[in-house]
Amino acid sequence: MKLNNNICLIGLLSVGLHSCKAEQEKVQAPNVIYVFPDQYRNHAMGFWRQEGFREHVNFKGDPVVTPNLDKFARESVVLTSAQSNCPLSSPHRGMLLSGMYPNKSGVSLNCNSVRIISSLREDLTCIGDVYKQAGYDCAYFGKWHADCPAPHKEDVRKVIWDTYTPKERRHGFDYWYSYGVFDDHKNPHYWDTEGVKHEPHEWSPLHEASKVVSYLKNENNVRDTDKPFFIMVGMNPPHHPYKSLDDCMEEDFLIYKDKPLDSLLIRPNVDFSMKKTKESRYYFAAVTGVDRAFGQILETLDELGLSDNTIVVFASDHGETMCSQGVGDPKNSPFTESMNIPFLVRYPKVLKPHVDDLLLSTPDIMPTLLGLSGLEKQIPAGLQGINYASIFIDPNTKVVKRPESAIYIRNSEGDKNEQGQVVTYFPEARGIKTAQYTLAFYIDKKEHKLVRSYLFDDLNDPYQLNNLSLDENKEIVESLCKQMGRELTNIEDPWSKEKILSDFIRYE
Ligand code: CA
Repeated sequence: MKLNNNICLIGLLSVGLHSCKAEQEKVQAPNVIYVFPDQYRNHAMGFWRQEGFREHVNFKGDPVVTPNLDKFARESVVLTSAQSNCPLSSPHRGMLLSGMYPNKSGVSLNCNSVRIISSLREDLTCIGDVYKQAGYDCAYFGKWHADCPAPHKEDVRKVIWDTYTPKERRHGFDYWYSYGVFDDHKNPHYWDTEGVKHEPHEWSPLHEASKVVSYLKNENNVRDTDKPFFIMVGMNPPHHPYKSLDDCMEEDFLIYKDKPLDSLLIRPNVDFSMKKTKESRYYFAAVTGVDRAFGQILETLDELGLSDNTIVVFASDHGETMCSQGVGDPKNSPFTESMNIPFLVRYPKVLKPHVDDLLLSTPDIMPTLLGLSGLEKQIPAGLQGINYASIFIDPNTKVVKRPESAIYIRNSEGDKNEQGQVVTYFPEARGIKTAQYTLAFYIDKKEHKLVRSYLFDDLNDPYQLNNLSLDENKEIVESLCKQMGRELTNIEDPWSKEKILSDFIRYE
């Protein structure tokens, strides 16, 4: 079904050729490209150290070289506070693709073949489905990681992470060049639309960028150039491993190779006793490489004259704590550096570049993108995310209320069946992030009692060095718990259904 393009045809029939042309300019459906490298810290973009940006944040940007992102930011709406609500690969992707929180998307845990509880629901109308129904050509490149791979043939307890995605699970993406999970950055592999496997022996972000460029130029006649396109690119770096030149491009590593570690890791919360500090050089090299790959896509849009009418988003699935908080796990935690993701949207025809502190949650991304594309009427009923497109267009709009908080979610494996497959998930931690505070509670599996809490004043303690006492901050905790109860009830989270920690959290 071609909706927006056909408006022109109706115009042609009723008011003649001249006004049709004018009409076409006004309503031509925008193309959309959503690029989201994995585990990309919001802090790791060079422009945060530059005038026009640094005054909008209370953290110091990492000393990274990202010339393409720096230029792109000056042409974009740049969010300081976009959140990955369940900051882990698969749950994020589930929320991104479906506009639903993990309890409704189907993707509660990081997907592998044993966790049969966690897989993107086939019956949901996902973002690719909507764009396809609206007449778009839809293409997916790179890491997918939203489905449960088929169990191992001989032994179900052998865990498989990677998978080929059959056509019926691609949710509207006609063109396919993707895989489940595979972390050999210079020997990536992909299954194409017909299921043929490709092993290109090229650093994956650059390879994916070249495939996107080829798709844009329609080199193999793979898309209908009369249709607008919707492209998602799930790059894997700067996701680990980032330990050697097997993981990044040498030319990028040379930028950071001889820099003292304390000139690269400049935050007061860095634990320099961690071995991982040395790996920051490779992580930042991957960041610079991703920037170059992203730049190649932007350059092609310019060459083809498509930049003006293409919505380009740069984001990530979660952050990377990179030696802060004394944790080895770079993600899955309520810390800012784990939850906060890059979020830049460029749409020259419609959006005026500016920096905004909109507390965007991951399920809001799908309806907001559809809204920006003029497809607000096609947003599926019952979607949990909210369309904030009008705030991107006019930050002072009163059309939609700004969100006051974002939920934090952490799940772990629950019960297993006789074959060792995970059939339930345990809602291990919940929390809330507001403009000023982060509050998170962890519970034990047996009795669902509080075992750990975090309370940070993010305005006055941007590096989250002081975990505040709940007892000494009763009023703040009470107010946050009220908000948290409301939000968890709203999304029908298991914590609200089971009234978990109801001596703290007020469920309405
Ligand atoms: Ca990830």
